[in-house]
Amino acid sequence: MKTTELVSFNKPYLTGQEITFINDAYQRGQLSGDGFYTDKCSEHIKQFIGAQKVLLTHSCTAALEMVALLLRIKPGDEIIMPSYTFVSTANAFCLRGGTPVFVDVQSSDLNIDLDVVEASITINTKAIVAVHYAGFSCDMERLSEICDKNDIILIEDAAQALGSSFKGRMLGSFGALSCFSFHETKNIICGEGGALVINDKNYIDRAHIIREKGTDRTNFINGLVDKYTWRDIGSSYLPGELNAAFLYAQLKLINEITSKRVSLWNTYYEQLTFLKEKGIILRDKPIINRGNGHLFYLILRSEAMRDKFIEEMNKRDVQCVFHYIPLHLSEYGSNISKYFSLPVTEGYSKRLVRLPLWLDNMPVDRVIDSVKESITFLDLM
Ligand SMILES: *Cc1c(COP(=O)(O)O)cnc(C)c1O
Repeated sequence: MKTTELVSFNKPYLTGQEITFINDAYQRGQLSGDGFYTDKCSEHIKQFIGAQKVLLTHSCTAALEMVALLLRIKPGDEIIMPSYTFVSTANAFCLRGGTPVFVDVQSSDLNIDLDVVEASITINTKAIVAVHYAGFSCDMERLSEICDKNDIILIEDAAQALGSSFKGRMLGSFGALSCFSFHETKNIICGEGGALVINDKNYIDRAHIIREKGTDRTNFINGLVDKYTWRDIGSSYLPGELNAAFLYAQLKLINEITSKRVSLWNTYYEQLTFLKEKGIILRDKPIINRGNGHLFYLILRSEAMRDKFIEEMNKRDVQCVFHYIPLHLSEYGSNISKYFSLPVTEGYSKRLVRLPLWLDNMPVDRVIDSVKESITFLDLM
C-alpha cells in the first residue's frame, strides 16, 4: 500500500497576490494589452536587467519570432544555435526561411561550445543564439567578442535565465535582443507569457510596429501621430492585461523566488555531490556566475540507466523527466538545418534526467533519499 504522496515534477508557484492584481485590472476596465499592468511589468524587467527597452509578449516563442522579423531573416541566412534546446529557438528563424546551424554543447554546462561556434561562422551567418541552459550562461564576454569581430548579431534565448548573471551582469543584457519566458514551467510565471528585451536602441521603433500587427498604433497611443496605419509586416504579439496583472505579482517577488530556488538547487548539489564518485555527472556549482535555480539535472552513466532511474523514482512516487530530443535528430530539424558532428549533444541528451524543483514546500529530503535509494538499487543490478 502506498503511504506517500506523489512528488510531481513541476508545480507552479503562486504568490497569493495574483488574484488581487487581476481583480484590480478587472476594475480598471482595460483588458487588451499595453495597459497599466503591462507598463508595470515592462518597467520592472527593464530596471531589473538594465535594458534599453522591454516589450511583453504572449510567449518566449513570440519574442523569438519578433527577433527573426527584426533581423529581416531571409532564405540563405544562417543562425548558429545549439541543437540541444527547445524547438522554438530554431522554429522562429525557420518561419522566415532561415537555416539553423546546429553546434555542439560543452559537457561542463550544456551551453554552446564557443570553439565550435567560431569554426561554424560563414559569410551567411546572421546571428548566434545563446541558450542559457538551466539558467547558466556560457562565457558571454568571449561570445560577445566573437560576434563583434565577425559583425554577427548576438541573441539570447534567456527563457530559463531570468535572475541569473554572468560576472555580475544580468543575463538578457548581453544580446542585441534577448527573450524571456513566463510559461508556468519557468521561475516567474503567468501561464503563457514572455518578453523581448531590446539592448540596441535601433530596434525599438520597428519592434513596436511588428508587435502591433505592423501598424504604428503605439505612436498613436502615445500621441505622436494623429492616426495609425499599416507600416510594415507584423503580427499580434502582445499579452492581455489580465496576464500582465498576474505576472506583476510574481515579478514583485522575483528576488525571494530566485533565492528560494537557488537554495533548493544548493541542497541538491551538496547532498548529491557524492554521486560523482559513481561516474554520475553533476553540473559544477558556479563560483563567479550566479544561477537562478531553474533546473537541476544529473547525467547518468548510460541511457538504459537513465530510463531505469526514472522508473525507480516513479516507484518511490517521485516524478523525474528528461529533455530535449536534439533538434538535428528530429525528422523535421534534420532536413532544414546544417550541422556536423554533435557528440556531446547526442551522448548527454540520452543520459540526462531532471529532478523536481519547485517552491511551496517541495519535500526535498524525500527526493534526495529516493535518488540515493534508486542509485544504490541500480548499482546492485
Ligand atoms: C521554455 C523555453 C522556450 C519557450 O518559451 P514559451 O514561453 O513557452 O514560448 C524557448 N526556449 C527555451 C530555451 C525554453 O526553455
